[in-house]
Amino acid sequence: MVMQYISTRGGSPSQNFSQILLGGLAPDGGLYLPESYPQFSKSDLDAMRGMNYRELAFAVLSRFADDIPPDDLRALIDRTYTASTFAYARDGDSAEDITPLHRLAPDLFLLALSNGPTLAFKDMAMQLLGNLFEYALAKQHAELNIVGATSGDTGSAAEYAMRGKRGIRVFMLSPLGKMSRFQTAQMFSLQDANIFNLAVEGVFDDCQDMVKAISNDLGFKQRYHIGAVNSINWGRIAAQVVYYFKGYFAATRSNDEKVSFSVPSGNFGNVCAGHIARMMGLPIHRLVVATNENDVLDEFFSTGIYRPRPSAQTLHTSSPSMDISKASNFERFVADLLERDSASLSRFWRQVELGQAVDLRENGVFDRVADYGLVSGSNTHAGRVATIRATWDKYATVIDPHTADGLAVGLAYTEPGIPMIVLETAQPAKFDDTIHEALGRASDRPAALAGLEALPQRFEVMPADAGRLKQYIQTQTSSMENK
Ligand SMILES: *Cc1c(COP(=O)(O)O)cnc(C)c1O
Repeated sequence: MVMQYISTRGGSPSQNFSQILLGGLAPDGGLYLPESYPQFSKSDLDAMRGMNYRELAFAVLSRFADDIPPDDLRALIDRTYTASTFAYARDGDSAEDITPLHRLAPDLFLLALSNGPTLAFKDMAMQLLGNLFEYALAKQHAELNIVGATSGDTGSAAEYAMRGKRGIRVFMLSPLGKMSRFQTAQMFSLQDANIFNLAVEGVFDDCQDMVKAISNDLGFKQRYHIGAVNSINWGRIAAQVVYYFKGYFAATRSNDEKVSFSVPSGNFGNVCAGHIARMMGLPIHRLVVATNENDVLDEFFSTGIYRPRPSAQTLHTSSPSMDISKASNFERFVADLLERDSASLSRFWRQVELGQAVDLRENGVFDRVADYGLVSGSNTHAGRVATIRATWDKYATVIDPHTADGLAVGLAYTEPGIPMIVLETAQPAKFDDTIHEALGRASDRPAALAGLEALPQRFEVMPADAGRLKQYIQTQTSSMENK
């Protein structure tokens, strides 16, 4: 029997993995979740201990993507998770591990998720998505034009995943002159014919408005096969489940042990994958949701009230990929917390969409959070700088500001005999200003990226005008068809 995916809001027909792969929201506005989570028994876990990353990825993903022929899925995974793609392991760690576990102290670890091409954890899922999309589109004889807006990590991860892929073009909007020099160079130095960098004369919100204008124009959307790769994509969540298994096996000797994970969080995608790994039977004690000053998630886990904030109230912090005031994947966890009561969930999220707070303390719902192992905390700029400095002083290890949020908050939840695994979500080389402030020097950059800023750049400047974007997409897609 093939796994069926249903909407959190309960109003969309169920679909298989391939049917939801290329889409975003379910038609009723909800997010897709498997009808029930696949279960890994004690003996399943015994068989998985000792597997390498690719074998683990197949063991986990074949349960979610069971409509893809197993040999095809295995080939896609084997092409994705290679030491040459996830090449940027720190000295002493093995790139063969894909996500090397780096030991700081006897029960304190970093799980390096940022050794991929853009030095951030989004590569872990996005690289697989690139291969899955290409495979699915070839089967359907279809093509896809991905339109997105980025202020940094997501856009570059999408471009590096989709570059050179048949049937796919990426149109990525970014605010002109607003990204770091490193991030700009990383994206704009791509010379692939299917990647279009559009530098918009405006701010990030203008870019997002242009993307929204396109996705609200259903006629245009259909005619030009417009799609997205946003953080609610189920394929991304599923791919992220794998490294929780990898980290667990690497930090323990037996499947009788438990571990805790601390997760630098923004849109709740990463920690949602941890929650799902736990629901599947992985022995996880605690999942620590670590936020920065944008602490909407910490507020929820401390009070039971979810109070998303308008984007005008989002602070710009030194862990910028966590500057989020409305966590798009949070709905998935709440669906489980409500024991899949889709009527209540729809009622709550109608309030969220009106910008209102929801109080999950009613009927004892919030009391059940403890059963799911989730706890939280938040950190500040001063805390990040102090944590980066202390981690260097104590462990001779340089960490990035997002990972510093995870470590600072995770340390408050350590318990004797239970390894705490902090997810390392980016490499310090991407955030030189903060590293400089903490250590008085830049961090070491992987040698292969030494001259990145000097490479020729390929981008187009565009006014903040959705009409111009549509025109551009029209021109590019027809000129490529005529070739
Ligand atoms: C995206 C990102 C996060 C936040 O992950 P979510 O899945 O949105 O919670 C944390 N750190 C870095 C470096 C990121 O790029």
